[in-house]
Amino acid sequence: MEHITLSNGINMPMLGFGVFQVDDSAVCERVVGDAIEVGYRLFDTAMTYNNEEAVGRAVRNSGIGRKEFFITTKVWISDAGYDRTLQAFDLSLNKLGLDYLDLYLIHMPFGDYYGSWRAMERLYKERRIRAIGVCNFSPARLMDMSYNFEILPAVNQIESHIHCQRKEELAVMGELGIQPQAWAPFAEGMKGTFTDPVLTDIALKHNKTTAQVMLRWNIQRGVVVIPKSVHKERMIENFDVWDFSLDEEDMQRIATLNKGIPTMLDTEKPSEVRRLYSYLDNPVLTSLK
Ligand code: NAP
Repeated sequence: MEHITLSNGINMPMLGFGVFQVDDSAVCERVVGDAIEVGYRLFDTAMTYNNEEAVGRAVRNSGIGRKEFFITTKVWISDAGYDRTLQAFDLSLNKLGLDYLDLYLIHMPFGDYYGSWRAMERLYKERRIRAIGVCNFSPARLMDMSYNFEILPAVNQIESHIHCQRKEELAVMGELGIQPQAWAPFAEGMKGTFTDPVLTDIALKHNKTTAQVMLRWNIQRGVVVIPKSVHKERMIENFDVWDFSLDEEDMQRIATLNKGIPTMLDTEKPSEVRRLYSYLDNPVLTSLK
């Protein structure tokens, strides 16, 4: 496993494990337990995934020391703002059954995220979180933060896969020292990512799978990946990306697959903002109400 050093000097694994849409508590605990056995140590959950308890149980029951893990969770839109974020953080930590977090992220760039960030700066200074970051923040929002805060996000978690390559965004994050982390590194298999002919060809050349090529490609661009799978054999496959490298020609061929737009979630679209706010009506997806 390779690690990357974040702007504040802490190390983060280049490959982790996401648990979005693993809502069933027993299933999630089993899945995270399997992933720990395979070797994953970075786990990415969120208040809205409704599985923080299960993730925490699997981590605590693993028999592996807390310091070996890198645990991430996120504050949802309903908890934007200074006071609510402080409360949401305590609730998440309680659900996880942990006494500190490795990474706390603002889930969406909506609402009073300035207030949330001030709360997170405080929690960071109190050493209750080892690093703080954001998700789905555009380069302009990140640049704006750089003029208004003492601490910049250590991480921006964004949709990043072969169809949404984010070259310009990565350049700005590089300039600001913000580590990119790819959510949906397979685009959840949508639009045929696993069967793409270019990836199939490259995979054959290296005797690997298209999933492994997709992960390796982001890793080689310096982007941390957090694939999700409920199947142990796929967890093993997705973890096995350290024994090969994509060459310049492979990287250039994959560059041609870019569609240049988010294919799963575009937080700059008014209709998407409306859709995400409509989740606030769902009690499962709001933490403090
Ligand atoms: P993903 O990792 O791109 O894709 C997961 C899908 O791919 C699942 O359907 C899984 O099926 C399948 N899969 C996994 N490995 C495979 C393999 N080797 N061969 C074939 N199929 C495979 O999508 P994601 O879960 O949306 O994204 C990953 C993580 O990013 C999430 O779990 C979450 O932690 C995070 N995320 C964050 C945000 C955000 O706004 N910050 C948004 C979305 C996601 P099975 O499970 O059936 O194997």
